[in-house]
Amino acid sequence: MKIRFWLLGLAVFAIGLATAPAEAQDLGPGFTKVKDGIYVYAAKPGNSTCSVVLTEEGPVIIDACQRPPDTHRLMAAVKKLTDKPVRFLIDTEVHNDHTFGHWVFSPPGVVINAEGAGAAMKRGFNPKRIETLAAESPEMAEAVKGFRMVAPHIEYRNRMTIHLGERTFELIYLKNVHSEADTAIWLPKERVLFAASAANVRSFINLRPFVRIADVLASYRLMKSLNPEMVVPGHGPVSTTKIFDEYEAFYHLLVTRVGEMAAQGKTLDQIKKELKMPEYSDWAGRKNLPQNITVAYESIKK
Ligand SMILES: [Zn+2]
Repeated sequence: MKIRFWLLGLAVFAIGLATAPAEAQDLGPGFTKVKDGIYVYAAKPGNSTCSVVLTEEGPVIIDACQRPPDTHRLMAAVKKLTDKPVRFLIDTEVHNDHTFGHWVFSPPGVVINAEGAGAAMKRGFNPKRIETLAAESPEMAEAVKGFRMVAPHIEYRNRMTIHLGERTFELIYLKNVHSEADTAIWLPKERVLFAASAANVRSFINLRPFVRIADVLASYRLMKSLNPEMVVPGHGPVSTTKIFDEYEAFYHLLVTRVGEMAAQGKTLDQIKKELKMPEYSDWAGRKNLPQNITVAYESIKK
């Protein structure tokens, strides 16, 4: 009798071990566990984040990582976590540092982003990039083997909901916040938000000329209204909605200062030379400040 109980205990323990959710450190350096079955990867601080969300019906990937060796490392982690094939690959934007690695997951992964993503990816595609990358190092040459340009298979407008196994993914189009097609991904049950690159973590974002600060601020209001517990930015460590508050304060101050200088009769070039935003001297990506000033200047002209 005693032995039987002991065996039962052992069996329960073994099942527990086999089904225990993997810890991030088991997957290698650069992985962060957000919640059970949700892992974020960035090889270096500031790199684009790429993530896997496990479901009973197979994994969903969010963004395809900064560089091809990173994409293969994410795929290796996915294989450690599950033997089910990748179902969907959702992009938070169109730029290379989020989308170049699509081919590693697709097929069988179906790639999804907002309307206009495929056209923008094709416009931005440089076929010489494979050669340039391959020349970097033997590791990179190996990592780009088999590359194919894969554009999104599905483009949605405004909103899209995916029900997969026990999880729900709400895709929300963010207008004019970073690239030609930006998507926030909201997991309402888990209260995890993948926030694209409308806000990163303490760095000046490379603002393209079509970005509108009013739209960026509106996207923060929208994302905060979801009341997420965890926020995964397009670049930077996993955080909370405090990143939206930080950027909101930054853009308000920037627009105010640019407005005051323009009212004094200063030209855009003069403002770019003089305005330093010293309160943000510890933010990364300082080379992007002049573009931020240009976008702020455009926003006060109207
Ligand atoms: Zn980008």
